[in-house]
Amino acid sequence: MTVFTVHTDLLFDSKKKEFVKDISIIIDGDTGLITEVVERKNALPDSIHSPDVDLRGKVVCPGFVDAHTHIFLHAYDEAPSVVQKRDESFVERIVRAVNHCRLGLMAGYTTYRDLGSESMKEADANIRDAINRGLTPGPRLFVATRVIASTAAYEPRTENHLGGTCVPAGCDSADGADELRKAVRRRIGHGADVIKFYADYYRRVMRFPPKQQHPYIPSMRFQPVDPNPDLVVFQDEEMDAIVSEANLAKAPTVAHADSKEGILAAARAGVLSIEHASRAGEEGLRLMKDKGVIFVPTMAIFELILQERFGKVVENLQLAHKLGVRLACGGDTGTFPHGENAREMEIFIEAGISVEDTLEAGTVGGWEACGGDLCGRRFGWFEEGCAADIIALDTDPREDPKALRKVSFVMKDGRIWKQDNEPVDLFSP
Ligand SMILES: [Zn+2]
Repeated sequence: MTVFTVHTDLLFDSKKKEFVKDISIIIDGDTGLITEVVERKNALPDSIHSPDVDLRGKVVCPGFVDAHTHIFLHAYDEAPSVVQKRDESFVERIVRAVNHCRLGLMAGYTTYRDLGSESMKEADANIRDAINRGLTPGPRLFVATRVIASTAAYEPRTENHLGGTCVPAGCDSADGADELRKAVRRRIGHGADVIKFYADYYRRVMRFPPKQQHPYIPSMRFQPVDPNPDLVVFQDEEMDAIVSEANLAKAPTVAHADSKEGILAAARAGVLSIEHASRAGEEGLRLMKDKGVIFVPTMAIFELILQERFGKVVENLQLAHKLGVRLACGGDTGTFPHGENAREMEIFIEAGISVEDTLEAGTVGGWEACGGDLCGRRFGWFEEGCAADIIALDTDPREDPKALRKVSFVMKDGRIWKQDNEPVDLFSP
């Protein structure tokens, strides 16, 4: 193939965290990598000819990274999680995932860190491979396959134990250091890029089953103040076993944790990132900062499911930013529609985090959350040797709060998937 150049006149440099002018990016179409980033001194001609690309007049960014997605989930306000897992066929869920991946890519998301197949076994690894083989459009996927949790900690559950209702398992359950090492080995053997475990969860949900758990069964009357608290599901030595085993395989470890105890335990165990962490508080955030843990606050799902507590969650994010905790943007996308991924970055900006810091968290922060150089490919910034993941916005996010949704050009690995706001060749890999 050819070497070609993408010309820009306003570009976000995610390493410098500033907008820069008159940059041209030279790309090797065979490798999909950037070979040179040049600051232009001389004026360009008015018209640029193919295969070179003219993005002058637009705001160019590195492809966005959504650091927390679920390709097999569609919006919870269409169907609760347990209903999707119980009632939708394997084939329907695969077809939906293919659509979700296309929508994410069209929205400028060239990478997804997909954190759990949600009862679809290792099918996320298969979708990843289909995309990487050029069979269907989508972001570059880093997948967790099944999440790891202790016995009965994270499962779709029903009250009917007599065999009438079939709900596929949600996770790879294991207990004790030896079993957990085996569970990590199973995940690695099945093709996981990242190891995700639950540090805490609503493990006592069957005491006061909420309506979402059993859509056809009424909720309990007279509920206690906190009917379904997040409770730690692993002993410290169990979390240590997961992390050390994943380290052997050079796979990053990701913890779901939202209670203070769960957050502290996961951070002490040395995970790469903690998901949610809305109850971290200053103690939790300081430990995350000291241990270099990446915070993926999943604001977009909290905005949907929390009413009065959302303000506190925003304060937690603001404190994390002030303390200098490493941030990455991932909305738990899938629980709300794929294609609306940018809501996470919008909430960061609405919370008072600068556009520059937000875009950096949504690009370089995402690459780090995927494992950084453990990924085997660099993306999220413009430099020789990085993947040519280039997107363009029609308006400037420093002026237009909706700019991050106005993605009119998408290139991933040097291939154009969207141009002039239209999909390009989606069906000819
Ligand atoms: Zn999630």
